Amino acid sequence: MNYRHAYHAGNFADVVKHLIVTRIVLYLQRKDQAFRVIDTHAGIGRYDLQGIEAGKTNEWQGGIGRLLEAKVDAKVAELIQPYLDIVRAENADGAMRHYPGSPLIVRHLLRRQDRLSALELHPEDAEMLAETFAGDIQVRVTELDGWLALGAHLPPKEKRGLVLVDPPFEVAGEFDRLVDGLARAHKRFSGGTFALWYPVKDRQEVRRFVTALRETGIPKILRTELVIRAPSPEPRLDGTGMIVVNPPYTLEDELRTILPALVKILGETQGADFALDWIRGEDRA
Ligand code: SAM
Repeated sequence: MNYRHAYHAGNFADVVKHLIVTRIVLYLQRKDQAFRVIDTHAGIGRYDLQGIEAGKTNEWQGGIGRLLEAKVDAKVAELIQPYLDIVRAENADGAMRHYPGSPLIVRHLLRRQDRLSALELHPEDAEMLAETFAGDIQVRVTELDGWLALGAHLPPKEKRGLVLVDPPFEVAGEFDRLVDGLARAHKRFSGGTFALWYPVKDRQEVRRFVTALRETGIPKILRTELVIRAPSPEPRLDGTGMIVVNPPYTLEDELRTILPALVKILGETQGADFALDWIRGEDRA
């Protein structure tokens, strides 16, 4: 396991992913009934943007850095505000120093009755994650293979919530693992919302992934992608994708408002664009 998220924290992919996660959890808050978020590949929780890793790539400047500086219209501003509030809360003195990863973003959105289960397999990262949430009774950090959580940990006792699956894609077969993991998890927790992150690098591989998802027969699968440039000649992270199964009914419209603005803010070249479509709808076979 060589992947370290600290090199990429706050980049354009994190921004899109974390905005979507924030919108989903805000929707879960609409009912008083408790929910649980399960973050299967959680990372360390809080990233130092002036640390050695982030300093080597400066990827955050093309992501959260740009978003914080951007002027957006009122409708977009309202939808992205809760996410930006969390980022700003982690940087109370004003300078951008810390970027919150997915478990920390979710933690900001938990009410007293809600819980977060965060899994991380890398021993050092799991230790840092445990430190981030030390003494927090609403968060359970486990050093464990996140793919296992898609079986044994489901359904959560709250019977409602979000499962975020955000693997590093450093080994071959990760797309297949996502499809198999979703199929297993959906059998145990068919009413849950699942958010699966994927890279847009090899577009043929993405097409195969979409076909495989459709063939699972699982209904209500929304796909969202944002590419920041036209396809690169060499494999490169040109875009970020998220599959959302059982999305809140509000999410599609929210993303139709947010994504065009993000293309303008995060896009690097003319080829920047977004996609938002149903891989399978509610009733279609
Ligand atoms: N979800 C995090 C966020 O948005 O802030 C970022 C996660 S990063 C893309 C992927 C993480 O998965 C890395 O921290 C890596 O150490 C961890 N990891 C790799 N294989 C894993 C596995 N089988 N189970 C759990 N974690 C794993």
